[in-house]
Amino acid sequence: MAIRVRSNNPNTLWVDHKKYKPFLRLDFEHACAYCDFTEPQRGGSRAFHVDHYKPQKKCRTVKERNAYTNLIYACGICNEWKKVYWPNKLLILLQQFILDPCKIDPDIHIDKTAPRWQAKSPLGHFNIEKLHLSSKPNIDDRRAREDALTTISDLEQLGRELLARDPLGSDTLKTVARYNRQIQSLRGMIMGPKD
Ligand SMILES: [Zn+2]
Repeated sequence: MAIRVRSNNPNTLWVDHKKYKPFLRLDFEHACAYCDFTEPQRGGSRAFHVDHYKPQKKCRTVKERNAYTNLIYACGICNEWKKVYWPNKLLILLQQFILDPCKIDPDIHIDKTAPRWQAKSPLGHFNIEKLHLSSKPNIDDRRAREDALTTISDLEQLGRELLARDPLGSDTLKTVARYNRQIQSLRGMIMGPKD
């Protein structure tokens, strides 16, 4: 995944950061900015928070705290691990800061191709450790998602094979169309949004 772009900035300063959630949901494509899990996999949008990249306690003004560029869509689990962590200059030099996915492409620092994410740099290593990105539950859930998506792809292939059959009656066409709709709804149940 490349750098995320915030394109739904409401351009309004609200004191209640929760008001930004619907906009962040769109900009972060209904997925956690840190672990990439989608809403259905974490129990729906209620399990997602508006995370302050620079923690609230470290900000001096509402403008700094609730600037849209300081807000991140994160699942409750990642947000809990992140807590109020904010590095000083030395820790930044030591590459011990949380990746802002809107400023740095996480894929440069983390290899996400396997269920167990691997560090590609010291910064990637710090993020994996700090946010427990390769915890056993996360690995298990990524594996389950991978398996489900593979099954869906197999079903889609089966649908294409059915369509390629000759001769094909109109009843079969209707059945295949219904079948494809079911597959798409199944994909939606995994990848979201759920609610
Ligand atoms: Zn997360």
